[in-house]
Amino acid sequence: MPQFFRKIFLALFLALTLSVYAACQSSDNGETGFDTVEIFAMDTVISIKAYGTNTEKALDAAVQEIYRLEKLFSVTEKDSEIYKLNSLKSITASDEVVNLFTLSQEISAKTDGAFDISVYPLVSLYGFTKGEYRVPEQSELEAALGCVGYEHILIQGDKIEIPSGAGVDLGAIAKGYCGDRVAAVLEQNDVSSAVISIGGNVRLLGQKPDADGYSIAIRDPNDTQEYIGSVTVSDCSVVTSGSYQRYFEENGRIYHHIIDPKTGLCADSGLSSVTVICKDGATADALSTAFFVMGQEQAEQYCRQTDEISAIFVSDNKEISVIGEVDFTPVESSEYTYSTAK
Ligand code: ADP
Ligand code: MG
Repeated sequence: MPQFFRKIFLALFLALTLSVYAACQSSDNGETGFDTVEIFAMDTVISIKAYGTNTEKALDAAVQEIYRLEKLFSVTEKDSEIYKLNSLKSITASDEVVNLFTLSQEISAKTDGAFDISVYPLVSLYGFTKGEYRVPEQSELEAALGCVGYEHILIQGDKIEIPSGAGVDLGAIAKGYCGDRVAAVLEQNDVSSAVISIGGNVRLLGQKPDADGYSIAIRDPNDTQEYIGSVTVSDCSVVTSGSYQRYFEENGRIYHHIIDPKTGLCADSGLSSVTVICKDGATADALSTAFFVMGQEQAEQYCRQTDEISAIFVSDNKEISVIGEVDFTPVESSEYTYSTAK
């Protein structure tokens, strides 16, 4: 979407969501037993549904937590620790940022660099950071690739350092982490069941009251108005990465926002989307991006090494494969073929 229309869209969206938020805040939905709130933050629509009565205080605290994290992780806000790291190349970081960087580094090592927060110079070249899209020259990609590599991020105590020319972007892990934090804040405020939806990231708190689980629909990557099926789950995260989530088109080619850190090109591993289901939202978010880059074969190998991660792969040739212990129900009329693997 051109920047101008994007701004108008955001302004309209904000006006609308603020009124929805106000409406939600004033109605404690005692009869049906839940309250909802919807805001626009972290460049996406965020909605929270909290079960129980008198949940306004909990929802307020949750919204504040989202804004706090948005400020902490933003690559464009001058006060954020990430902005400071990208400009100064060395910072004294908060425990929270150190912990998230440490987790990021672990996942990078385990995925052979398919997930790599130092991909920022490449993401910027395509203009995804500011919404000013363009196709970079090969020479620009090569220069940026020289600055990419998670192993060059140094974490020593509370000091984080990156080489000159390097930059970091938590876009592939921050929303998942935010879901975990919102769940924790809701719990501290006596909410024991909730659905937190942050763009393609869903975090479920506890059990759904009076049901076997929460039913979470998985979007059809080829038609985002439709779904390929749903999972029935509790107390976990369900995170999808797909090329359909953010992209632009030039000369008949699609350029999307998940970059292969080894080539600098948009990941093209034969997958249209990957959904990861596991307890920890930050891990689910990072792995869904990594799996999208790695491709199905390598991602399945990764899943086989642990009982804690399930995944749903949708390939470019419309095959759905489910790996791990997850209750998935495909949509019957779907044009997709469907298989399960252990
Ligand atoms: P979404 O943000 O749509 O949920 P992802 O979780 O897959 O999608 O994150 C994609 C974002 O993460 C990109 O917009 C970019 O900022 C960053 N990114 C892109 N490729 C990678 C990668 N290979 N590793 C880590 N971060 C990435
Ligand atoms: Mg991700």
